[in-house]
Amino acid sequence: MGTRRKLTNITAVVIHCADTPNGRANTVEDINRWHGERQPPFTRDMSIAPKHQPGLTHIGYHFVIEVDGAIRPGRPLQESGAHASGYNANSIGICLIGRDKFSAEQWHALHELVANLITQIPTCTKVFGHRDLNPGKTCPGFSVADWIHNDYIPDFNHMLDTEVNHG
Ligand SMILES: [Zn+2]
Repeated sequence: MGTRRKLTNITAVVIHCADTPNGRANTVEDINRWHGERQPPFTRDMSIAPKHQPGLTHIGYHFVIEVDGAIRPGRPLQESGAHASGYNANSIGICLIGRDKFSAEQWHALHELVANLITQIPTCTKVFGHRDLNPGKTCPGFSVADWIHNDYIPDFNHMLDTEVNHG
């Protein structure tokens, strides 16, 4: 169950991947369903922001970035997430659909979203990949530190090759 928090308690963004086959068009609704099927299930506290994505009652992330680059909201920012053990109270969880290759649209959307969050929430100054916080994880499948160091230019080793589908 998520708990209410002040935005000033947020200090970091944590980037995840869905660990789904690269390029497969899963959605925020799929993630919501999977989080509801966990034992125990993830559950939002719908009293915090009942009008915020009311159909997504389980999702643990605050945002999901789909393969076409759509940024789909999950939990409201004033609710703690369920995505990074030990860090949920103070972070925002973003999940990229895919495993370790993401579309140009996803890379662009990720940059835009992270930049907006850091601007919007002055206390939120750090950006991590899940694996930076938990050495047992490979998620999100690329080095967030390198991406930031390279001025948010996508790592071409982790770019989905969409050209093959165009013949
Ligand atoms: Zn993760």
